[in-house]
Amino acid sequence: MKVVLTMARYLLELSAADYWRAIILYGLNTATYKLALGQCLVNFTTQGKTRVSMSELAEEFFDIYKDRLENGKPQLDHVSRRTVMETIVELYNLGKLTRNQAIEEVEKRAFDDVIPRFHTVYRTPVEVQFYEHTSTGLILTDSLYAVFEHGDSQEFRDELDSRWSLLEAAFEMKRERSTLANDIMRFYLRKGNLARSDVTHTIPVLNGYQEGVCFYCGEKMPPGSIHVDHFIPWKVVRHDEIWNLVLAHGFCNEQKSDALPARQYLEKLIMRNEYFIASNHPIKNKLIAALGDTRIERRRCILEHYERARHVVKHTWDGIRGYNPGTDKFYKTFIRRIYRC
Ligand SMILES: [Zn+2]
Repeated sequence: MKVVLTMARYLLELSAADYWRAIILYGLNTATYKLALGQCLVNFTTQGKTRVSMSELAEEFFDIYKDRLENGKPQLDHVSRRTVMETIVELYNLGKLTRNQAIEEVEKRAFDDVIPRFHTVYRTPVEVQFYEHTSTGLILTDSLYAVFEHGDSQEFRDELDSRWSLLEAAFEMKRERSTLANDIMRFYLRKGNLARSDVTHTIPVLNGYQEGVCFYCGEKMPPGSIHVDHFIPWKVVRHDEIWNLVLAHGFCNEQKSDALPARQYLEKLIMRNEYFIASNHPIKNKLIAALGDTRIERRRCILEHYERARHVVKHTWDGIRGYNPGTDKFYKTFIRRIYRC
């Protein structure tokens, strides 16, 4: 029994290397500072140091970032801001700071956050400390040396480097998505309106076909509660073209808000517009002018708008719970009309 308990404790006990990996490989990283500090610590142990002054740390930190930033990748999880280190290295590269001035800046501005927070994973402190922070610098602990006691440190350097690359790739992807979303917003804004306009005049036109039934839930709308909804949110498309307008209950309209409706509704919108065209309504020509001459062109056009909007609108709306297109009278009517069945 005693042997089993000892074994259990042994198996549960985490080594210094386990804690090191937890810090380096897990947790929420909003910037790459922890990895740079980790790399400094590996370098110091390789040199056999047990104490480092703040200026030694700043010099090492600066050199690591100077080399790293040659890859041009972002170091912060923010689409437009950047880290203090990126600013300092840039000023140095532009010749606006000497090496010594840059290192002084690092010492003054780079460590406030990372030194106290290094020994945490998901904001929870780990049990092991790899350094003590004093007023003059860092004292490197036995636990730090214990991480690297079995063999060389290359494995740990590689892990650190791959985690760093992963973060940079994630930050970069976020920026690219944001740039794309901004381009799309500008694309619509160039052609669209700056302010919303009143679209209630479209209610009679749309309701002639929608027959008082809500687009999103398929239930009857009381006459006083008919709202005109921009299927792809107005804040993206910036226009009131009729192909994108549907009638809905106030409640359904509010539930949907500025989200993008799920694909089942997109299919319904495409069919609704085809239904207008097949019915030879006067708006038929407007729809054809906006979307295309053939059913295939029009479908492709709406899909393109929808896909663009998906880059801008973060949330899709699944619709009203219990909505069943199969029992939606309005949907059935226009499918019957289009396919003449
Ligand atoms: Zn409704």
